[in-house]
Amino acid sequence: MVIASPACRSCHRTDGDIVLDLGAQPSSELFPKIDDPGPDELYPLRMWLCANCGLAQLADDADVPEEVVGSEPAALTAQRADAVRELAAAGAFPAGGRAAEFPSPHGGSWLPLLADHGFTATPYAAAAEQGGAELVVDGCFGVMHEPDQDAALRERAAAVAPGGRLVVQFHSLHAIVSGAQWNALRLGHYAYYSTPAMITMLERVGFTVATARRFPLYGGTVALVAGRTSESPAVDAAAVDAVVAPELAAGMLRRSAVGALQHSVQRTAGSLREMLVAQRAAGRRVYGYAAASRAVSLLRLADLDAGLLAGVADASPGKQDRRMPGTDIPIITPQELVAAQPDVVLVFVSELVGEARAALPEIERHGGTWVDAGAGR
Ligand SMILES: [Zn+2]
Repeated sequence: MVIASPACRSCHRTDGDIVLDLGAQPSSELFPKIDDPGPDELYPLRMWLCANCGLAQLADDADVPEEVVGSEPAALTAQRADAVRELAAAGAFPAGGRAAEFPSPHGGSWLPLLADHGFTATPYAAAAEQGGAELVVDGCFGVMHEPDQDAALRERAAAVAPGGRLVVQFHSLHAIVSGAQWNALRLGHYAYYSTPAMITMLERVGFTVATARRFPLYGGTVALVAGRTSESPAVDAAAVDAVVAPELAAGMLRRSAVGALQHSVQRTAGSLREMLVAQRAAGRRVYGYAAASRAVSLLRLADLDAGLLAGVADASPGKQDRRMPGTDIPIITPQELVAAQPDVVLVFVSELVGEARAALPEIERHGGTWVDAGAGR
């Protein structure tokens, strides 16, 4: 349902603005069976920016089904290792103890990496009752899936033992805006954090950010390490400012700057459709690669069907015999993609271009071309 006047999921205030409106969209998590003709249920998909605390968030609540866990790009695995190594080297972690990790529907875990730094895994759900964990981690984009952002951060904060640290890692709003990644906006992803907004949210639950790092994943992924404000944690102000200052300069708390996302929507979707119409007219066959959540709104806004995009290949077994939500475009296996001998393969997840090329050399051997059709283009 469309909520006429949203209230902030973090600070509960009601002053704010719609900064991005993608209209009515199907769930990007439920890939219908290929023999289910639809129509698929549609939900409003809008980003609202709180004028009080600066948190960008989904304006509306939609009860979307559980997502199908896809195969994780190697870039995510590599980034986790980078994050743990850099933060450990900077002395941002306590000297071992218990580590509690809040899970993510995207999968992935910091726990095996943290074991090398003296941390023993403890269940996150029981951590608060058992005196807390020295390190509490939300490192795999978990907290953005929580409709009640304030409650979610309080739960994470409560799991931290005295003297412990809380790590939160997120895809930065700055990367989304500067990279025109408007299709990062998705049902089920309730919050889109700028670093200043996340710092404010952590302060509200009694935590002070001690250090920050920015990584290139997704155009900008930020990891923050925070300690209890009442314990006066040592703060690496230079490291925090290095991440915060560019975001403030880019206007990440202002609706005019964040609202620039809206202008990129028709440009991206319109040019994708024009390109596919031209390819079809030239008798060339175009397929997609990666039946990713972020491709769903793009395919709908570009008004694509199987006549323009013959199929989208995906390696995940859970997505086979299904179709792209809101369209008749089938999801196929990588083997079927190779057998189709496509002229062009559009890769909807930029992080996957390299590994897709390497895994399917037959595409280029048969004269096909890989094209990066990820966000921001
Ligand atoms: Zn707010």
